[in-house]
Amino acid sequence: MSLVGKVAVVTGGSRGIGEAIAGALADAGAALALCARSGEAATAAAKRLEARGAQALGLAADVANPADAERLVTTCLDRFSRLDILVNNAGITRDGLVLRMKDDEWEQVLRVNLSGAFHCARAALRPMLKQRQGGRIVNIGSVVGSMGNPGQANYVASKAGLVGLTKALAKEVGSRGVTVNAVAPGFIETEMTAGLPAEVQQGYRAQIPLGRFGTAREVAAVVAFLASEEAAYITGQVIHVNGGMWSS
Ligand code: NAP
Repeated sequence: MSLVGKVAVVTGGSRGIGEAIAGALADAGAALALCARSGEAATAAAKRLEARGAQALGLAADVANPADAERLVTTCLDRFSRLDILVNNAGITRDGLVLRMKDDEWEQVLRVNLSGAFHCARAALRPMLKQRQGGRIVNIGSVVGSMGNPGQANYVASKAGLVGLTKALAKEVGSRGVTVNAVAPGFIETEMTAGLPAEVQQGYRAQIPLGRFGTAREVAAVVAFLASEEAAYITGQVIHVNGGMWSS
């Protein structure tokens, strides 16, 4: 599987699953533009990729802001002259029960996780379609977008919405050779899950037939496959990477 000559944008590529995705795409030969709200963290992650021999660019961009999404894409084009792969990975949580959830907690999560993916897909599709060489969009969802989770109505709604965006977009751009898929991780060892209390982590682990949390690399491997030529006939799908804790 080779991505030599391809250029990828990974949002939220400064740590966790996003950094692992950027690493997997770089290992397959792609050049990378990655963003995070912290430009310092994005630049440091790009430097780590360069140390592995990849071409990489890190910049500060907040995907919730449409102008930042446009700038992310134009900066990528300025540096690498093309764009073949977009991975919408940036995501946040603001957990709480609906009865106590503030408007801002609801809106922030929807704005980053769902509107952010829309902003970046719209910005990335223009050069992808202009290139007339197809393209790949991979949205990072979550198992809870399918199974629900108490205390995460905002996050669950954003991830379920991402599935709808994936399916609608796949139908819009399929005739132009652009595939659009979602990868839905279960519980993965990252900063996002490290913050959960030990007894909550144990409760989740008990629901996973494989008996452990997944790794960011295990998610990244599926994203790299979907980004490759070998996955050319897969579109509009949600691929679950969750140790068996939920199946459709
Ligand atoms: P993480 O460790 O918290 O990393 C999140 C990344 O997104 C960071 O690079 C962060 O950098 C960036 N980010 C956050 N808000 C952003 C914004 N508005 N604009 C641009 N970048 C932004 O999270 P993770 O666990 O790796 O999760 C990555 C994705 O996988 C998310 O979509 C998450 O919902 C999904 N997921 C995770 C798990 C899990 O178990 N960890 C399970 C299912 C799904 P800054 O803070 O500097 O912006």
